[in-house]
Amino acid sequence: MNMGALQPGRVAGWRTVMLCALAPLLTLRAAAEPAAGAAPFLGYSAGSSATEDGWEKRFRAAIVPATIRENMRRLSARPHHVGSPYDKDNAEWILAQFKAWGYDARIETFNVLFPTPKIRVLEMLEPTAFHAVLKESVVASDPTSGQTDEQLPTYNAYSADGNVTAPLVYVNFGSREDYVELDRLGISVKGAIVIARYGQSWRGIKPKVAAEHGAIGCIIYSDPGGDGYVKGDAYPSGGWRPADGVQRGSVMDTDYPGDPLTPGVGALPGAKRLALKDAKTLTKIPVLPISYADALPLLSALQGPVAPEAWRGALPITYHLGPGPAKVHLQVASNWDIKPIYDVIATLRGGVMPDQWVIRGNHHDAWVNGAEDPISGQAAMLEEARVMGELHHQGWVPARTIIYCAWDGEEPGLLGSVEWVETHLADLQRHAVAYINSDGNDRGYLSAGGTQDLQRFVSGVALEVQDPETNMSVFARSHLAAIAKAKDADERSDLRKRSDLVLEALGDGSDFTAFQDFAGISTLDLSFAGEEDGDQYHSIYDDFHWYTQFVDTDFVYGRALSETAGSAIMRLADADLIPVDYAPQAEAIARYESELEKLLKDKQDEFTERNLELQEGVFAATNDPRRPLLPPPAETIPPYINFAPMKNAIDLLTKSAARFSAALAGFTARGSPALPAKSLVLLNADLLQISRLFLNPHGLPERPWFKNQIYAPGAYTGYGAKPIAAVREYMDEKKWREAEGQVPQVSVAIEAAAAGIDRAAADFESALAGTL
Ligand SMILES: [Zn+2]
Repeated sequence: MNMGALQPGRVAGWRTVMLCALAPLLTLRAAAEPAAGAAPFLGYSAGSSATEDGWEKRFRAAIVPATIRENMRRLSARPHHVGSPYDKDNAEWILAQFKAWGYDARIETFNVLFPTPKIRVLEMLEPTAFHAVLKESVVASDPTSGQTDEQLPTYNAYSADGNVTAPLVYVNFGSREDYVELDRLGISVKGAIVIARYGQSWRGIKPKVAAEHGAIGCIIYSDPGGDGYVKGDAYPSGGWRPADGVQRGSVMDTDYPGDPLTPGVGALPGAKRLALKDAKTLTKIPVLPISYADALPLLSALQGPVAPEAWRGALPITYHLGPGPAKVHLQVASNWDIKPIYDVIATLRGGVMPDQWVIRGNHHDAWVNGAEDPISGQAAMLEEARVMGELHHQGWVPARTIIYCAWDGEEPGLLGSVEWVETHLADLQRHAVAYINSDGNDRGYLSAGGTQDLQRFVSGVALEVQDPETNMSVFARSHLAAIAKAKDADERSDLRKRSDLVLEALGDGSDFTAFQDFAGISTLDLSFAGEEDGDQYHSIYDDFHWYTQFVDTDFVYGRALSETAGSAIMRLADADLIPVDYAPQAEAIARYESELEKLLKDKQDEFTERNLELQEGVFAATNDPRRPLLPPPAETIPPYINFAPMKNAIDLLTKSAARFSAALAGFTARGSPALPAKSLVLLNADLLQISRLFLNPHGLPERPWFKNQIYAPGAYTGYGAKPIAAVREYMDEKKWREAEGQVPQVSVAIEAAAAGIDRAAADFESALAGTL
């Protein structure tokens, strides 16, 4: 899935910028090149760094774009959603590839709830009759668009079954803020069917919030302002979504990802399964996605107030809100079947530290042919694995064990990765060093998210990979793009001082979720994006024909992804010492805490101002009786919250991180001498456990599956991260006392991590002194 790629402005005149502003980068670049006699890679002694550099260079030189192209052609040749014949066929083909490359590979199967459409009806009964087509048409020039027998019809998986008839209301993106606006406009959706446009909030939030406001059905359509003709020419003449293009997708609720019937445990034979009626993550009301060709007659038939300006899409109509007079009939029913999913798991055993695992994954299932989502990532990952197998034949043996995972069932709800992590939780928590994810890959800038203990590490890797379109590293390009799109001078100045790429926190939305949020494993998510010439997200047109015309046409960004993720995997696997640095993570967590304080202050100011304006009569004075707006409700001013325990814990974290960074600098400054093997064993054992310390076994207060106290998605943001969610979500709910009640337990987790890092730093100091 993985939407919301970064969309920076073009970077003009980078050469001049580079001369004056890249001094820190040039220093770091020199630091990353042991050949130049400078410091070794993070976590490496000088000798092992030079050897590693040699293998990595051979690795990157051997990546072949044509092979990535061929992988994509093969894997996207037919529709391959969960339960389809080609889904299994692909898994078996991937398995055979890994075996041929010398991996110890197997398929792990889980049995999960996967609904497919049985009945889909959408019709307008009043004021005129209209029957929605609910079908994407065959494009003559596109050879796979006509595979209609195997295509999954347009639908939202995990929608409730339902048969409803009601007046229609337009609700913009269908976010909670949109309903606040509707309240002020005096429009209720109680008993209505809502129509929302795709975008802004994650799709599953739309029916959830609609149901909370009393709606009985939900339609989601793709407005051309989002990914259609406003962006560029529509397919097939251009790459953008055509009039009848539909975005399929899961609307599973966010209490927990994975199989709705087996929360917290692997969906294996014999697993205790919930009854369908008890599964918390199905929607409460029926939902159906449609094209704008199907939406246009419905929206045109609405009357009532004209939609606020920001709510208007790009269709050539005046957008009205309703309710009615459009009255629609929506019927949705699914086959609620249990289907097998096939995860391909391939292992290359480590020669020195086989019990430390470096894990890499990308899903292989799609909604239809899925050339971009997910095969662009999968095809690049397979090329990485092929070349690593080749190096293995030539004598390279990774020090740690490498595990490649081709996940099934990501699209419906991260099914393959969640069930696998739940099944192997104890082993993963004992052995996993890190997980590196990718998903769809496009063109443009390196976009990296994850836990910031890996920030310095991945920045070092990105310095070594050449951007295909410029003469600079993918690091430099991404860094300069960040300067170009920075919001103000302060942010630009901060960026110019940095010698690393800032990793954005991840929430959920792809297969890293269970690793990071549930198992406490350090995580990276990598892709290239920002220069797309089209979008066919979750449509039949996301296929090989489209991708090779409008996206990464020569697969050079597929190569860049292989090089970046593959180099990262090799470097993690071979490092003497797990290559983490906690200073950037302490910095990020301090920032998340200050965001909480700012959020509180902003709410106090906003509500104070609003209450004052209510008293003054500002809303009454500015109300236009021809376009009446109700005043917003008066609010209770939020009380002060005591963040001191968290700030003290972050202080400890910052200090121990600095102590560890200093030891790390001592390690690299020493140049050649490596630490004795027994010191490394002890230090690696320390480091392996640290990211687990951010977990609370009881999880978030309202969503116990999410154990991580720092990294989690929001219950109302979907994919987006809500760092320190235990506190923040209650603040969003205006439950200030409950928010404050969560501060101590978050602080405990941060203190535990600080103590773990301090222990590692102390051992590190002893090792450097020769006394460990
Ligand atoms: Zn995907």
